[in-house]
Formats: sequence, C-alpha cells, structure tokens
Amino acid sequence: MKEIVPSPPPLVHNQYETVRELFSKNVVPSYGRFDLVLSHGAGSYVYDVAGKRYLDLGGGIAVCCLGHAHPAITDALVEQSRKLIHVSNLYFTEPQGRLAAELVKRIGAGKCFFANSGAEANEGLFKLARKFGHDEGRFEILTATNSFHGRTLAGIAATGQDKVKKGFEPMTPGFRHVPFNDLAAARAAVSPATAAIMIEGVQGEGGVTPATPEYLLGLRALCDEKKLLLFMDEVQCGYYRSGKFLSFQRILEDVAQAARLQTASEPAGGTPALPSFLPDGISMAKSLGGGFPIGAFWARAPYADLLGPGTHATTFGGTPLACAVALKILEVIERERLDENARKLGDWMKNELERLVAAYPQIVRRARGFGFMLGLELMEKEKIRAFAPGDKTAAVQFVNRLHQAGVLTIPAGTQIVRLLPPLNLKPQEAGEGISKIEEVVKSLA
Ligand SMILES: *Cc1c(COP(=O)(O)O)cnc(C)c1O
Repeated sequence: MKEIVPSPPPLVHNQYETVRELFSKNVVPSYGRFDLVLSHGAGSYVYDVAGKRYLDLGGGIAVCCLGHAHPAITDALVEQSRKLIHVSNLYFTEPQGRLAAELVKRIGAGKCFFANSGAEANEGLFKLARKFGHDEGRFEILTATNSFHGRTLAGIAATGQDKVKKGFEPMTPGFRHVPFNDLAAARAAVSPATAAIMIEGVQGEGGVTPATPEYLLGLRALCDEKKLLLFMDEVQCGYYRSGKFLSFQRILEDVAQAARLQTASEPAGGTPALPSFLPDGISMAKSLGGGFPIGAFWARAPYADLLGPGTHATTFGGTPLACAVALKILEVIERERLDENARKLGDWMKNELERLVAAYPQIVRRARGFGFMLGLELMEKEKIRAFAPGDKTAAVQFVNRLHQAGVLTIPAGTQIVRLLPPLNLKPQEAGEGISKIEEVVKSLA
C-alpha cells in the first residue's frame, strides 16, 4: 500500500529538554505550563515526544470538540484551503454567510459577527453595549464575581477575579462585579449608567458553577424592566457541551418542560422549547472551530443592527477557512448526535464522580457541572496529607498525578479539576478516565 503520511522524524533523545530550552529562551513566560511536550494526537488521545499516550479529558480547554486529527476537519481544511483561505471582510464569502445562518438557526432571530477568539467575541459585545447606551450616557456593564471573560484589557476589567487584574491597573472603566446567582444583588447594583449585564451560563475558570434557572429568568426580567442588554458568555459552556447547543437551554429545560405542561396550546410547528428566554447577545469561541481559531457573537434582532458599517471590524474574523471548518463540525455533531453523547456520557461521568465523593469524602468534596463540563472539587490541600506543601495548589498536584496516570485534565481555581472532553468521547474512554481518576484519588486516601 502506498504510504500517504510521511514517517515521523526519528526521536531526538533529549527532545523534551530541547523544546523546554527553546521556550525558556524565546517564549514569553506568561503561562504556568506542565512538564509535558506533546507531539501529536488521534481521537481522544494525545502523545508526548517520548511516545507516552494520554487520554485528553481537557480537550484543549473545551476546544477540541471532535478530538484530535479528526478526518472531517482535516478534509474541510484541505478542501477549503485549495479554494480560498482568506479574503478581507470588504467582500462577501459563502462560508461566513452559511455559518452565521447555522448559528442563528440554533439560537434565534438575530445576526452574527465573527472574530478569532473568545476575548474578541466579548469585546464585540462590550462595544455593542456601549453603542446601545451611548445616546443616554449609559456605558456600564455588570459582570459576576468569579467570572472569566478573557485577557484583553476590557476582558480583564470584565473578569470578576482579582488575579487577572493585578499589575495591569488602571482597569478599563465601566465594569462592576456582582455576586453570581444573586438576583437581588444584580438588581441593587443597576445604576443610571448601566447598559448591560454579562454572565457565563456555567462559570468555567471560576470552577464549574452553573447559573440557576431562577437567576437566568430573573436577570431577563430585570434587563427588560431596566432596558438593559443581557449577554451570555457561552465561550466555554456553549456548543453542545451541556447536551444542548447553549448551556442556558439545558439549564432552563426543566422550567421549559413545566411551562409546556401548563400551556394548553402550543405554537404550531412546536419550535420554541424555552419559556421566552433569550439573551440579547451571546459570545462563542473554543469548540466553535474544534481547534482552528474562530470566535463569534450573536446579537438579537434588532440590536445587531446597532453595529453599522465602519463601527466594528477585524482583519481575520470569519475567514472562509475558519467558517468552512466550523460548518463541518456542526454537520458532524448533528449527524453523529454528539449532543446526546455529551449529555448521556457526561451525566454518567458525573454520577461516577459523585460515587468517588461518597467513597473518598476525605479527598474529594463534590462533583460539579453537567454533560461534558464537569468539575471534581478536592478538599483543601492541607487536609490531604499526600500532597506536598509549597505553592502548588491541590488542583495542580492532582492534575500532575493524573498526567503520570496518562490523563489530561484542566485545573480551575485552587481545588477544582475540570473535565472538558471531546463531544465524541467513547464510553470506554470515559470509563478509562474515571478509573484513572479513581486510582489517583485512592492513592491520596
Ligand atoms: C476561554 C474563555 C474566554 C476567552 O477566550 P479566548 O479565546 O482565550 O480569548 C472568555 N470567556 C470564557 C467563559 C472562557 O472560558
């Protein structure tokens, strides 16, 4: 058989040290990186330069929604790159228009703007809020404590965590934080200058904390009453991770179910599954491109039209290549019913994590989240004797032990380990992940 893929170059014995050295000399040291040099992946697995295999339950922080080296993504990249990789947004291209239509179809009447990252998508929403409030002198955006909205200057001002702001003051004005899931606090914080409220459906970096249905519905009513825009940052929790396209659709489904039972007559066509809940703006990124950089925001009609020609732009946003990949990903997710997989398998994993909590209460405190956005909350570092003292958090030490066991996960805060696996994770892989997590928990007990 003809060989299509060239054989890899021979492994250099000290490749790990060589790569580390390249980084320490040449790359800005802004990341606390783990001691792993990864070289390639296949499906839910990645390999390091020594050839060791890891089950990737972090998915590149909720990015690699079809796992690694998915042939459909490769094909879409190759096929589209033969036609057109990039033209500027001075012209129309079919993939961008079609991707916008697919997103609108899944969310509701509105329009999309394409960017290259989550932070940029949020920046677009911040600008939308400013434009919306401008003529009345309103500019302020309320966000939640423990939130995360990106690392640009406005992103760190919006983020409700001091650690991202430290050293970068003064902050971009116009952001104030209110406690998450506290409707009364949000209401009390609204000022004459407030134009919008932004929250995550499930706080990710903050430690996998879902918004409650009452909070979402309450914020919607509050925003309607005070004429504020309600924004949801679905960069991490969106894109089928919850089992629904966007996290709020899952959070509200029980409420929707109850509302449906109460309403005698349903609208023809049976479309709206939600009790009239729709935010005014939604940011997306991470899983949107499955690893190819793309971000987007959707703005509800008529607010989308506030950003007229010349008001907002980006050179790379919505390239035909990025949009072709994103379109292919949606096609695969629908064809293979990966939303259902995320829900069923993710909820199974949550149950398994809860089993660990019951079996090892001295090590693990709680399982958090749903679907493929899960968190395992550890006890305080001081309470787990096997953990080294020093400055490595409990979460980081746990993640390191999982690396030894051959599993990648993502720390959040000091005590939470996040699981954000690809949407096409297989049941047997989920089982492998859980048993390795159990091994590590057991070794600490
Ligand atoms: C990751 C993330 C962002 C920032 O996305 P980038 O692509 O890193 O700019 C914003 N909001 C949330 C909720 C995120 O998880």
